[in-house]
Amino acid sequence: MLGGGLAGAGCALELGDNGIEVTLFDRNDYNQFQPLLYQVAGCRLPAEDIARPHRTIFKNHATVRVLTADVLARSLWSTRAAPCSDSSPTRPTAMRWTS
Ligand SMILES: Cc1cc2nc3c(=O)[nH]c(=O)nc-3n(C[C@H](O)[C@H](O)[C@H](O)COP(=O)(O)OP(=O)(O)OC[C@H]3O[C@@H](n4cnc5c(N)ncnc54)[C@H](O)[C@@H]3O)c2cc1C
Repeated sequence: MLGGGLAGAGCALELGDNGIEVTLFDRNDYNQFQPLLYQVAGCRLPAEDIARPHRTIFKNHATVRVLTADVLARSLWSTRAAPCSDSSPTRPTAMRWTS
């Protein structure tokens, strides 16, 4: 699954509730509730009120695997993605996952 945003995280939770194996790719390691972004921009809410780490969201869903990676290309047979890492200012070489 590509994207752990509103739709992706919701879908992965439903599938995980039913024990279905999911590999979720997102370039960020958190889910962000965009409709309240302006509240954070206006200092009316702290950022953590509208963003939750994927590891927290899926901590009780053993069948959901989250990979923090920038997806570059997707085909029916494989996904090409560059892993994201805070410690590396430049993106490492793209990798290929086959599913
Ligand atoms: C300021 C603002 C206010 C809004 N207000 C409302 C509202 O009041 N009511 C309403 O119904 N909707 C609102 N929306 C729209 C709503 O937020 C979106 O419709 C919804 O988030 C779309 O869900 P999504 O899962 O498709 O995308 P997103 O929630 O944007 O998730 C996409 C995910 O995919 C990841 N991703 C994208 N490309 C890649 C890539 N190449 N590799 C790896 N990861 C990738 C991103 O990091 C992100 O986590 C608002 C949006 C904004 C920006």
